[in-house]
Amino acid sequence: MNPEKDLLLYNTLTRKREKFEPIDAPFVGMYVCGPTVYNDVHLGNCRTFTFFDVVYRYLSYLGYKVRYVRNITDVGHLTGDSDEGDDKISKQARLEQIEPMEVVQRYTNGFHDVMLELGNIPPSIEPTATGHLIEQIEMVKQILENGFAYESNGSVYFDVVKYNESHNYGKLSGRNIEEQLEGQGTRKLDGQEEKKNNVDFAIWKNADPSHLMQWDTEWGKGFPGWHLECSVMSTKYLGEQFDIHGGGMDLQFPHHECEIAQAVATTGKEPVKYWLHSNMLTMNGTKMSKSLGNVIMPEELFTGNSELLTEAYSPMVFRFFMFQTHYRSTMDITDDALKAAKKGYFKLMNGIKNAKNLEYPSEVELNINQKHEDDINKSVTSVFRGINDDFNTAKSIAALFNLVKKINMLHAGQLDFSQISKESFDKLKSTLIDFTEQVLGIKEELPQGEKMLQMITTLVEMYKEAKEARNYEKVDYLRSKAKEIGIVFKDMKDRIDWAYEE
Ligand SMILES: [Zn+2]
Repeated sequence: MNPEKDLLLYNTLTRKREKFEPIDAPFVGMYVCGPTVYNDVHLGNCRTFTFFDVVYRYLSYLGYKVRYVRNITDVGHLTGDSDEGDDKISKQARLEQIEPMEVVQRYTNGFHDVMLELGNIPPSIEPTATGHLIEQIEMVKQILENGFAYESNGSVYFDVVKYNESHNYGKLSGRNIEEQLEGQGTRKLDGQEEKKNNVDFAIWKNADPSHLMQWDTEWGKGFPGWHLECSVMSTKYLGEQFDIHGGGMDLQFPHHECEIAQAVATTGKEPVKYWLHSNMLTMNGTKMSKSLGNVIMPEELFTGNSELLTEAYSPMVFRFFMFQTHYRSTMDITDDALKAAKKGYFKLMNGIKNAKNLEYPSEVELNINQKHEDDINKSVTSVFRGINDDFNTAKSIAALFNLVKKINMLHAGQLDFSQISKESFDKLKSTLIDFTEQVLGIKEELPQGEKMLQMITTLVEMYKEAKEARNYEKVDYLRSKAKEIGIVFKDMKDRIDWAYEE
């Protein structure tokens, strides 16, 4: 159910908010640049992939049949910015003295673990660059044949200047190629003399014999340029033209700009309708960097094992935290903000728990209070208005809390069912639960699952008995035990309930 039909999203390509209209509804193709698996996934990546998980979830919720492709880069991503340096995976393999594919497997596994912890749904297809070498070589041949690339010393470079004569290289990132060409003579980079111009980029790179990963081609032994894999895998699985391409903002240039150029040079068609980019994150207002010592890894966040944090923050708390900032804004991580998010998350979970326990009575003498009816309808509309407004999850969450307020009033008996219609109650309950769980992917998270639930039930029983026996010492003891596992007892009129400590 979605009372607001139009989803607006900001398209980096046009720099405008546009109404989302798939090329071939109800099908939607979405490609997101995945990780280069040579080290542990960092929080910046977590933010990007969690944002696109919500895009995937929401489009599916709206009834679209979404094919979500997110690749694994396991070759071709070099340590240098412009076609120089070592392959990141090979370098790590040498460092750890293992096979490149062991590096790939290790960090792919780690990446998947963190994605699952954060509640992200796996993509429909997760292709790897090494699994698509034949297609990449084919695309290089096609670009050469179409006259937009040249061979040089066993490498193949994309001829940006030639391409720019008939197309606009730089239109996505807003870069001006003339300006970049002007700087040409002054800053020659190592290995760049193979190129006609410094703006050209490698689509195939000649490998020296020491290079760990290389393949035979008519140009000699080598490996694909990093940008090529995404052009190949996106169009292979989503068609020459597809709906959404996403990634972190840092990929706009050169990666995504090159992707467009490669696709257009191959097929003559604009590959992507909507380009979406998520912004970066900072720690206490500063960019995270090893040299500043302010880097937090996901595991450190989840365990609290960091000098920058006063306590542990669970994956779901972090997920909730991320949605408080609009995806196109910089997200600042601070211990205080995480603390506030933790409180908010448990408040929301208590509301969900209460909602799940509430049923509209089968017999009720209606005495409708229009104000409550209007409040509920307005808040439900706001939930969807938020997400439809270029995925403004913070707006949606604010509206969800208005729904929580009503649910809690019903739960506490401050609001009587007779005052609202069954229709409004159903809308209230289903929107709160479905939107939180299905669209935002935020769920209850008991550290030990079922076992913990049994323990809580036992504690509640013991608390009830101690209260009945007026054993206040035991009551206090049980309260402190409950606090240790993050819950509080709720003395209701007719029963004892429990809630997450907020
Ligand atoms: Zn990519």
